[in-house]
Amino acid sequence: MKNFFKSVRRHISRLDAGQLREQYNLISDEAEFFDLILGTIDRGIMVLDNNGGVKFSNPAVKSILGMEPAHAVESLMLPLGKSSKSEVSLTYPESKVLELQTFPMKDGTLVLIRDATADRVRSEEELKAGATQAVRDLAAGVAHEIGNPLNAISLNLQILKRKLKNDETITECLHQVARLDGIIKGFLAALRPSKPNLMPGSMAEPLTACLKTLKQQFEDRRISVTLDIPGVLPSVAIDRGQMEQVYFNLLKNSLEAMKDGGTIAIAVEADDNDVSVTIHDSGTGMTSEQIAHLFEPYRTTKSNGTGLGLMVSSRIVRDHGGTIAAESAKGGGTAFTVRLPRIERRIRELK
Ligand code: ADP
Ligand code: MG
Repeated sequence: MKNFFKSVRRHISRLDAGQLREQYNLISDEAEFFDLILGTIDRGIMVLDNNGGVKFSNPAVKSILGMEPAHAVESLMLPLGKSSKSEVSLTYPESKVLELQTFPMKDGTLVLIRDATADRVRSEEELKAGATQAVRDLAAGVAHEIGNPLNAISLNLQILKRKLKNDETITECLHQVARLDGIIKGFLAALRPSKPNLMPGSMAEPLTACLKTLKQQFEDRRISVTLDIPGVLPSVAIDRGQMEQVYFNLLKNSLEAMKDGGTIAIAVEADDNDVSVTIHDSGTGMTSEQIAHLFEPYRTTKSNGTGLGLMVSSRIVRDHGGTIAAESAKGGGTAFTVRLPRIERRIRELK
């Protein structure tokens, strides 16, 4: 094509009107053909003049940039009259990753623009998934390995405790070992979630069991607990052990949020769709900043906390097809609500 145009140019003064018309038709067909390609291709193609002004741009440029090319060109910081390739992130009007290429041409610069957002997101996710899995495996391995010597230490401490007739130092050591053990168990539970074994049951039953376990701790801290359960409660699909863990985490947090006694009001309710349990404490409450990061791992405000309790709890509730929500005002106490779908609703939704 290049050679054809060159030869026409060379001989143009010798062409008569008929030949010129013929050449003109050829060129205009050619121009239409390129127009069609430029108009339909999904890559942005743009020509800038030597001052960076837009001489030409195809429709894809505008749709990739999300605005008139002339308005965007400055922010792309394209090197004029040079070959280059770069990646830029746009945040406005939406966040995107663009791949830009420039080529010098006569009296200007050719710019090619490709939307690389999808590629980039995919490769980042692949990277993240791979790295996370490796770190998880490593962490789970280490935690598991720590568990064994910890058990041995605990056993030997118990023997010593008997020999030394309940020596206080040994008791404290045992207490700390038990704490470490708890941290590791929580950590492993967080890393290796087990799917709930769902059976029809009552949402209140594991709750009352859990309250029984914690009864002494409530009394020691002068916390009064009220429990409001309707006479008849619809069934939910529940893994009793896992839900007991959820209640335990929530109640333990309420307990830890109170220094000088207080109240915990628990209400079990049912509507047409769900059964819910609300645990409302009169503890310290949380700031909106704390609430914003709730359920994220390792977020703790306690010197001996793990920040895993709520994360594990929210995952358990999610695996039950339910929701967990928190409401709090600093100084105004905190209410956590766990909601599980009634069995009839689950069956309806699964149909
Ligand atoms: P941990 O109890 O080990 O800190 P959790 O995941 O159970 O970890 O809780 C995370 C954080 O959420 C706590 O450190 C605390 O700041 C806040 N929190 C949770 N429940 C309550 C509550 N009932 N009242 C006040 N703060 C709470
Ligand atoms: Mg906790």
